[in-house]
Amino acid sequence: MADRNVRLLLPGDDHSTRCDFHLHTDRSDGVMAPKALADSCRRAGLRWWAVTDHDTVAAWRELVGTPGLVPGVEATAGLDGREVHIVGLGFDPDHPAMAELLAGIRQRREERLAAILARLPAKLRDGIGLDDLRDGRAETLTRSHLAKTLLRKCRVKSIYEAFSQWLGDEHLVDPGLPGFPAIAVVAGAIRAAGGVALLAHPGIYRQDAFITAALDCGLDGLEIDHPELAPERRSYFDQLAAERGLLRSSGSDLHAPGARRPGDWSLPGQVWQPLWQRLGLPGAGSGDGGPAKPAQPAPGAGLHTGILSQR
Ligand SMILES: [Zn+2]
Ligand SMILES: [Zn+2]
Repeated sequence: MADRNVRLLLPGDDHSTRCDFHLHTDRSDGVMAPKALADSCRRAGLRWWAVTDHDTVAAWRELVGTPGLVPGVEATAGLDGREVHIVGLGFDPDHPAMAELLAGIRQRREERLAAILARLPAKLRDGIGLDDLRDGRAETLTRSHLAKTLLRKCRVKSIYEAFSQWLGDEHLVDPGLPGFPAIAVVAGAIRAAGGVALLAHPGIYRQDAFITAALDCGLDGLEIDHPELAPERRSYFDQLAAERGLLRSSGSDLHAPGARRPGDWSLPGQVWQPLWQRLGLPGAGSGDGGPAKPAQPAPGAGLHTGILSQR
């Protein structure tokens, strides 16, 4: 597993093309502080990387100016009652559309967590309020924070039990719970702020019809590889991107140091090229990793190029 990323490197590729556009810190549900993650990315020799915390750019604000850092987020959307994750890259983090979108989703998350908490049996939830979930580091509260609180207060024996018995997606299929904004709304805000909107880890959704329905909502691309994805699914997503002229991305979805490292699940240089070009990254299209294919322009928006001046 540790060298799984290597299988995707082609002749002529080397670690100079290694990127990771899906990483988390403790500003959402990750374990590492932003600076610790940045150190880890530097040690891994990543060319480009993005912190894609859930519904917050707090880590980006702490790390702005760090070499290789591209603005990113993993925004939460909803489709047919299911939660869908959209990775936004290369947007202006100070754009009002993004600030409004992310603040709104964080608020919705808290309303939803309060509703989930209220539905738990009294023996699990008694004496627990939303403030018990706050750890002083995360700007976004997630189900993981609720699970950790239940464990800390000895209401469950493990995080696994919290999710398998109470907090997993299968327990939350309920139209009565507060939902998340539509994919088109999330993608629209990311584009309005000059970024690209990508479907994160499509393999977790399993049904192809659901995945194509999500893409039909107006996304610019998808992660064609991610942890726990079968090789035949990677080929399917690669083909899907080709058929639809979509951008390809990938990342480790790292939440904690350990088995995964920044840069695992990277892609070959020529596969990255269209995304690098769309993000306006220095050196994109200069021949690294082979000729670049022009990417489809996002309707209505040019890419935020502030990242160039932050290096
Ligand atoms: Zn996700
Ligand atoms: Zn993630």
